[in-house]
Amino acid sequence: MGESAEMYLETILVLQRKSDEGVHAIDVSRAMGFSKPSVSVALKRLKNQGFIDIDGFDHIILLPKGRELAEEIYERHEILTDVFVELGVPYEIAAEDACRIEHVVSKETFAALKKRRELIKKTRKRSSKAKKN
Ligand SMILES: [Zn+2]
Repeated sequence: MGESAEMYLETILVLQRKSDEGVHAIDVSRAMGFSKPSVSVALKRLKNQGFIDIDGFDHIILLPKGRELAEEIYERHEILTDVFVELGVPYEIAAEDACRIEHVVSKETFAALKKRRELIKKTRKRSSKAKKN
């Protein structure tokens, strides 16, 4: 599973969450800034690998295998962004870096970051409760 395939699946998932209408190849091309022909080639490959399907309306459908992977990558994206923002990195830069690191981070490092983020969340809740009382 290459980095670019992961990026495609993540983008499709994000686009699906943003709109109720189906996601088309052109939406993916706009979101990623890639040409339509190269997006078509990539989508064809994802389809052959059983990650996505294209329905009769040309909508891109995430198949279970593709959805699972997309959700895993997107979870990494959200957690990495959160931790970087917490460290004081501006949101835009944090999200951009997260989007690169999410494809290469090891399971061990990601697990440690995830733990740290849960700690941050707990501390935040506690301090906002303390302010209220
Ligand atoms: Zn990302």
